[in-house]
Amino acid sequence: MTALTAAEAGLLLCHTCHQLNRPSGAGHDLVCARCGASLHVRKPDSIARSWAFLIAASILYIPANVLPVMETGSLFGAQSDTIMSGVVYLWTSGSWPLAAIIFIASIMVPGSKLFAMLFLLVSAQRRSTWRPLERTRLYRVVELVGRWSMVDIYVAAILTALVQFKALATIRAGPGAIAFGAVVVLTLFAAECFDPRLIWDPLRRRTDG
Ligand SMILES: [Zn+2]
Repeated sequence: MTALTAAEAGLLLCHTCHQLNRPSGAGHDLVCARCGASLHVRKPDSIARSWAFLIAASILYIPANVLPVMETGSLFGAQSDTIMSGVVYLWTSGSWPLAAIIFIASIMVPGSKLFAMLFLLVSAQRRSTWRPLERTRLYRVVELVGRWSMVDIYVAAILTALVQFKALATIRAGPGAIAFGAVVVLTLFAAECFDPRLIWDPLRRRTDG
């Protein structure tokens, strides 16, 4: 905790091109010397923006799981499936690897991401000094998982293709699918708005006295 931080040394990192800048004076209209993007010591309104996206994502998590994501129609009648009923159907019909993939990718991962972001935001807002390294790692995992959170969309696309092969069946996305897509995107935004350096700031201030 003795190392000098860039902010204390009067240096600012460009979020766009990662050029380290030494701005003259502390104004509000600082721009990167190389690419011209605006510079911030910390992402502006990081916690407030992250909260807004996280709350929106949490609200939409409900319709994403309650509303049908898939509406199947055949000669034998129409059927609509939520994510969970689809998982149950796949499990009982013997395609348990697919059931497991959809359960993990569509229910467990988005839910865990929401909880992880909630924890990071609450602890950063309370200026917690509890296990900053672990919390930074948690943030890294949330960011990493974000890239894979569209896996279930691919699975749904493959399923659709499989069902379409059986003639006389029609399949289309239900309103739950839209809510689900929104949850994925809003959680990505929440993670992007969050500035992980906020995890370390309270420690720095405490050390300084
Ligand atoms: Zn730049």
